[in-house]
Amino acid sequence: MDKKVRVRYAPSPTGYLHIGGARSALFNYLFAKKYNGDFIIRIEDTDIERNIEGAEKSQIDDLEWLGIIADESPYKVNPRYAPYRQMEKLDVYRKYALELVEKGYAYYCYCNEEELSEMKEEQLSNGVKSFKYDRRCLSLTEEEIEKYKQEGRKPCIRLKMESGVTFKFNDLVRGEVSFKSDDIGDFVIMKSNGIPTYNFAVVVDDHLMEITHCLRGEEHLSNTPKQLQIYKYFNWEPPQFGHMTIIINPNGKKLSKRDHNILQFMSQYRELGYLPEAIFNFLFLLGWTSEDNKEIFSKEEAIKAFDPARLSSSPSMFDNKRLEYMNSYYIKALDENSYKEKVYPFIKEFESNEFSKERLEEISLYFKNEITKLSDVKIMLNDLLHPIYEFDEESKEMLQKESSNVVCSLFKEKLSKLEKIDEISIKSLFKEIQKETNIKGKDLYMPIRLKITGKNHGLEMYHIIEILGRDLVLSRL
Ligand code: GLU
Ligand code: ZN
Repeated sequence: MDKKVRVRYAPSPTGYLHIGGARSALFNYLFAKKYNGDFIIRIEDTDIERNIEGAEKSQIDDLEWLGIIADESPYKVNPRYAPYRQMEKLDVYRKYALELVEKGYAYYCYCNEEELSEMKEEQLSNGVKSFKYDRRCLSLTEEEIEKYKQEGRKPCIRLKMESGVTFKFNDLVRGEVSFKSDDIGDFVIMKSNGIPTYNFAVVVDDHLMEITHCLRGEEHLSNTPKQLQIYKYFNWEPPQFGHMTIIINPNGKKLSKRDHNILQFMSQYRELGYLPEAIFNFLFLLGWTSEDNKEIFSKEEAIKAFDPARLSSSPSMFDNKRLEYMNSYYIKALDENSYKEKVYPFIKEFESNEFSKERLEEISLYFKNEITKLSDVKIMLNDLLHPIYEFDEESKEMLQKESSNVVCSLFKEKLSKLEKIDEISIKSLFKEIQKETNIKGKDLYMPIRLKITGKNHGLEMYHIIEILGRDLVLSRL
């Protein structure tokens, strides 16, 4: 590659960081880092009615949390390419739009909403599949223009699509793609309020910011010929495009923001105690497959391994199980101190005279290999401290057995006499009971677990007893 690689992630601040957006950002980031280029965050905020206060900042924060750090952004400006928010450069778009009008590549359109929807309806009733502006404003006379102005109409600017042209490009993900210009109507590039549309602003910005490649969602594929027409009129070189496949849910349906079975926003994962390394790794495999089916990649390994030729060209399935597996993998891999530090905010609320910060942190270690996300510790600890005794049939039967009574009273008796409570002493206590009564296996352990925790599964018994302390355990028995 001769030019310095410059790629961008260009979110609209109309919401918080979504899985799809995070994936686009991640692949642009990997692309930049792989080729020693720059990764830029540009804010496409021209849809002013849909912008949300705080969305821009939170998106950038969430990306940083993931380890996707921009080389340039509204907060890290390179004056040569600034501003990084589209609404701060309306005059620039205006200048370029006027240039196209002057050259005859764009024209003013005075049609109002009503006229346009009439036009649409008429075309639909004539069996036209996709609406195309009928160009009625392409050659207005002076008088007609004057009349519209008198009526107080403010024009928008439309791009005049060439006829009979095919736009071909080599998509980084799908190979050669082509569109016929005749299928595309003259589209608006500047709205009557002086704000550019996405398709126009994106071209002006990608050109001025010297963007070399752009990886984005498949939903933008059909925008690409419109953008290529603009590049052609300006005689600018377009970047290389790559359109990533859709993300589907396990039922094979396109992931929609309303799909409540899958958490969609990065902030939700953060709050539940997913680790950024796990999400990074997961997103990486949500659009890319390694040659040898390797699954675990650190950021550095992902940069090294990444090869745009292996971007997947079939839909990527969002597999919750895989994400959970990865998160538990990364939790297990944490060293004890960083685990304690990360888990503490989730269990802080249990801090009390009895449970000092240090003790809570020690206790949290018992859960390290058991959980899929850090917030699980909170739930599991809460279940231990405030158990709910709702037994299923099997557990009820177990508790009604004569052997269960025997085991429980022996256990109670021996526990109250035990000198020290730890793994070894509790284990040998169970062994003694087994020897004395010949009761073993489930019949030996389960009644005690059920009485102490209300549940038939969970941490090792000796850890539970260590956490709860002898008095509490005796009273529950
Ligand atoms: N602002 C657009 C979006 O949110 C960016 C699309 C592009 O990358 O060109 O999808
Ligand atoms: Zn018009």
